[in-house]
Amino acid sequence: MADLHIFFLPFLAPGHMIPLVDLACIFARRGIKATVVTTTANVPLIQPTIDIVNAGDASLLHPIQLLPLCLPCSEAGIPEGHENLTAFPDPDISKLTAATDKLEHSFSLLIQTHRPDCIVADLFYPWAIDVAKQFAISLLSFNGSNCFLSMILSILHRDELNRGEIETERLIEIPGIPRKIHISVSQLPDFILRPTEFELKMSENYSGSHGIVTNSFYELERDYVDRAPPNSINRKLWFVGPVSVQNRDLDSKIVRGRAAASMGDDYFSSWLETKSPRSVLYVCFGSLGRFTATQLREIARGLEAADRPFIWVVWDADEPSDWLPEGFESRVIGSGKGLMVQGWAPQLLILNHQAVGGFVTHCGWNSCLEAITAGVPVITWPLFAEQFLNEKLLVDVHRMGIPIGAKLCSLKPEERTPVKGEQLTKAVDELMGDGEEAEERRKRARELGETARRAVEEGGSSYENMTRLIQELISLKAVDGSSECKGAS
Ligand code: UDP
Repeated sequence: MADLHIFFLPFLAPGHMIPLVDLACIFARRGIKATVVTTTANVPLIQPTIDIVNAGDASLLHPIQLLPLCLPCSEAGIPEGHENLTAFPDPDISKLTAATDKLEHSFSLLIQTHRPDCIVADLFYPWAIDVAKQFAISLLSFNGSNCFLSMILSILHRDELNRGEIETERLIEIPGIPRKIHISVSQLPDFILRPTEFELKMSENYSGSHGIVTNSFYELERDYVDRAPPNSINRKLWFVGPVSVQNRDLDSKIVRGRAAASMGDDYFSSWLETKSPRSVLYVCFGSLGRFTATQLREIARGLEAADRPFIWVVWDADEPSDWLPEGFESRVIGSGKGLMVQGWAPQLLILNHQAVGGFVTHCGWNSCLEAITAGVPVITWPLFAEQFLNEKLLVDVHRMGIPIGAKLCSLKPEERTPVKGEQLTKAVDELMGDGEEAEERRKRARELGETARRAVEEGGSSYENMTRLIQELISLKAVDGSSECKGAS
């Protein structure tokens, strides 16, 4: 194995950091020297995962390095220490990118010192292409989303959005792909409808890079990759996921994405052990899902009426006593029926426990993939960004989910369609019940999970894609001077 050194530069939000750190660990386990670069305040969120891999993996030729950068918060007009998207009251990335845009110089200095052969950078660093060019090294863009999204976007842009006025509630039929996907314009995010200058710059990173590394697997998106309309994907593309599978033992699942366990390391496993197989509903809206107090109360009502054990992760800052229905804590939490977690829960550990039989998800791409990999059927409740498109993949394409009926894509909780407790109860009954349809859905989810896990095993599609990618990077390094940042054909 030629000595290949890769720098990984994740964006500063859990949904971006977690999969790119997973990817760095996978490269390291394949004998590659991997260095993760992040800002000082984010080091504690990544270090535990790296420590586990460095300490426990005899196959590692090089320990994974973690290098800190100083984020110029005050210069960018954000509070000191606000170095992660979760620190902001709403998940509007523009405040944080005002600071990350200023990391180019310090990152260049690290490249100058360490001279890696390749950079794998999140798409949210549009300047990474300039650094790669300056040092004549390869840039791979990390796409934390999927090919289905890229394709639908390109079709939407080509066939629909460029044709004048956009009506708010019109359904768009996507031609040229096997299943008809209907999308209401109200479910599309601003980055599609009204891209900012930053978002347009991101696509330059995309098109200037050597190729795209995607946390997805071929079998999941085969129809869309194989039948892509011309030019919808014009870069080299490597499906290398689901990357979460690299967290095989309990400890890596517990520390993944956070500095320390909040409720005791084995708390969740012990609680889940007391429940029957597939009886527990897991409810989590990612690291950025926020709701109005009224909506939170409706979720609580819906869960109580569903009368099934649950783990509900709540990231909202308001005190639950301000919005929980009266007596909920003693009736539901005190009785051991439900568990409410404020802040971080070890999602991977929970989803992969045999007691878990359903997941209410906001359809962030990592959560989708983690549900798929665990073989757990879902209730889809998208909120913002591309989550409504991910919902289509889970519900319409792979038929492993039930939509809650969310209609409006918005970062602002007060703008979204309210969901009544009764809607949630009905969806939970349908998902977790015994009917034939529920059984079929469970079977499809289970089978897709097996396919997902196979993809990353030796001989699987993602494993082999990694092999090809590594070989390509080695050959780029070997051809003197050709490792400059060339576009793929
Ligand atoms: N996550 C977790 N515990 C939480 C919230 C999130 O482990 O309490 C993890 C989850 O497993 C996933 C990531 O954080 O890997 C969230 O990414 P996703 O794309 O699902 O959603 P986002 O937070 O970006 O909206």
